[in-house]
Amino acid sequence: MPNLQDLDTTRFGRKPDWCPGCGNFGILMALKQAVNELNLDPKNTILVSGIGCGPKMPLWINVGGFQSLHGRTLPIATGIKLANHKLDVFATSGDGDAYGIGTCHFIHTMRRNIDMVYIVHNNQVYGLTQGQASPTTDKGTRTKSTPYGLIEVPTRPLSLAIVTGATFVARGFAGDIPHLKSLIMEAHNHRGFAIIDVLQPCVTFNKINTYQWFQERVYKIGSEHDATNKMEALKLAESWDKKIPIGVYYRENKQLYTDELPVLKDKTLKEYGVVNDIEF
Ligand code: SF4
Repeated sequence: MPNLQDLDTTRFGRKPDWCPGCGNFGILMALKQAVNELNLDPKNTILVSGIGCGPKMPLWINVGGFQSLHGRTLPIATGIKLANHKLDVFATSGDGDAYGIGTCHFIHTMRRNIDMVYIVHNNQVYGLTQGQASPTTDKGTRTKSTPYGLIEVPTRPLSLAIVTGATFVARGFAGDIPHLKSLIMEAHNHRGFAIIDVLQPCVTFNKINTYQWFQERVYKIGSEHDATNKMEALKLAESWDKKIPIGVYYRENKQLYTDELPVLKDKTLKEYGVVNDIEF
């Protein structure tokens, strides 16, 4: 693995301040490589985030950035996409941001099929606030907020995504940057709402789900998987304890929210002059 601590900084003269070894470095590297290989225009590309360790990413990548409120990543990203649906919109959250406080927005953005790529840094804790249990923490885990072991069962976010209407559902691993970069590129080229849940070791507050823990369990989904088969995709999304598949679980072609609005066929709201430009 390259020395990810030495990632070039491109904004505000600051380097990422994540803990050394954090999985967020791998996600940022994969996203940067994908943006470069896709040859995206930084002026027409925006990364929207919420609050958390991972959602600091807009600070360190040379595209438009909008760091919003906790759990509000998707409504902001939706608003930007509706104002100018020609923009390339990426959104990024942690597991608490996406699957806790942001659950309601998560569900409704998926069923609307808003065309964007949503990258969720799933480290199974609230890292920024120092390690409390999150919606994806495994049952029994002792954290600062669950000193006797968590009594709740974890959510399976990709199962929720598949049944709620996401049209591209994938899982990546922060320890496999080339694979994650390919997933981000595929998600970008998909027309519709694309979610990538990324297994992201938090080396400081999650001593269970470590790089080694994941390396012993992750495997790449083979070509025999039919990603248009919802039931097969659900089986992958429910697979966790012993084997964790990475790759594209589910894919579907469906009309976009913006396709349903004839007024947007030829022009964006920005081109109509209904909304003002955003200066990055
Ligand atoms: Fe990464 Fe965890 Fe440190 Fe946050 S607390 S920067 S998620 S290692």
